[in-house]
Amino acid sequence: MLDSNKIRADFPILSRKVNGKPLVYFDNAATSQTPQQVIDVIVDYYSNYNANIHRGVHTLSQEATDKYENARNTIQTHFNAKHAYEIILTSGTTESINLVAHGFASILDKGDEIIVSALEHHSNIVPWQILCEKTGAILKVIPMNLEGELEMDSYSELLSDKTKLVFVNHISNALGTINPIESIIEQAHKVGAAVLIDGAQACPHVKPDVQALDVDFYVTSAHKVCGPTGIGMLYGKEEWLTKLPPYQGGGEMIDEVSFEKTTYAGLPHKFEAGTPNICGGIAFGAALDYMNAIGFDTIAEYENELLAYGTKRLLEIEGLKIYGTSKNKTSVISFNLKGIHPYDVGTLLDKMGIAVRTGHHCAQPIMTFYNIPGTVRASFAFYNTKEEIDALVEGVKKSKMMLS
Ligand SMILES: *Cc1c(COP(=O)(O)O)cnc(C)c1O
Repeated sequence: MLDSNKIRADFPILSRKVNGKPLVYFDNAATSQTPQQVIDVIVDYYSNYNANIHRGVHTLSQEATDKYENARNTIQTHFNAKHAYEIILTSGTTESINLVAHGFASILDKGDEIIVSALEHHSNIVPWQILCEKTGAILKVIPMNLEGELEMDSYSELLSDKTKLVFVNHISNALGTINPIESIIEQAHKVGAAVLIDGAQACPHVKPDVQALDVDFYVTSAHKVCGPTGIGMLYGKEEWLTKLPPYQGGGEMIDEVSFEKTTYAGLPHKFEAGTPNICGGIAFGAALDYMNAIGFDTIAEYENELLAYGTKRLLEIEGLKIYGTSKNKTSVISFNLKGIHPYDVGTLLDKMGIAVRTGHHCAQPIMTFYNIPGTVRASFAFYNTKEEIDALVEGVKKSKMMLS
């Protein structure tokens, strides 16, 4: 059982007020809040051992290097990667995806096919469009249904020996749908295609096992799992990371440099040019430690309770429609009030101290599918409570009265 009072005490920000009201933070799908345990790690780094890594003989540099590489090991263990060097530390999901897309530019031929899903975040659409323009490859899209689920029969039909890459998010940030990635990966491998899973929205809720999934690439951002912004990871199978060319040139990523020829460093350094976000990497490890200490089964059970309660309470409001009604979903509720613009609801809720996201959630194609300008999205984390959901329901009722 999760003790929400004890957990909330770990998050200093949760006791602040917004517009004179206690903060109700329901924008967790955009970024999560940071517990004191992780803030302490950040302060400790800059207070005690801030130094550049991997090249210093002095004590501070060695301490920083050890902690940074320990964090990589923590991330490796968390995702059950076979080797620590299969974990590339990046600035986040977006950079990880761009790194892979850049690499595939030298692998794809004209007429090859890339499959993405209708449920993607813009960060998982645009890099592939750029890649297709560069290579002459063709982008195909797995359609979705009204529940906000992928049409798996259509997916099977899209696959062929022309398919080289499949890119799908594990969990949709706009609707919360959990996609059947096991089956997506298995079917793609049957035709010899590689699979990249965008796990940015899944990692706050589940603990993925990249070896059990047999996935080729898995990417995520630390700021969705109680870590800081500007740091994230790319997991890639060794064989793929060896095959892909470096993404950026610079310090750290070389073996030997002369003006005639440069040879590249081995993994993971080949993909980590320049001074990395050292403090961020260490804090990413600390954030995963924090969440693992609570336990992902405990987190999932509690959030499912919040989801069920929030869904039931919000549906009591007449004229409220929820988008994304799959049985397989996490604690994200995207909704609209009949005849009222989502932006107006979000603005009024903010006046009451309630933070939700409004708009297209970086997933315009989904909004186009439902023929709506956007939604109000309330996304719950393990530090939220049913009392906060009650406040949201009262807030939405009040907004409805004021706006209709
Ligand atoms: C948040 C998110 C991203 C983007 O992550 P960044 O940290 O902004 O790079 C991509 N995909 C999904 C599903 C997300 O939820």
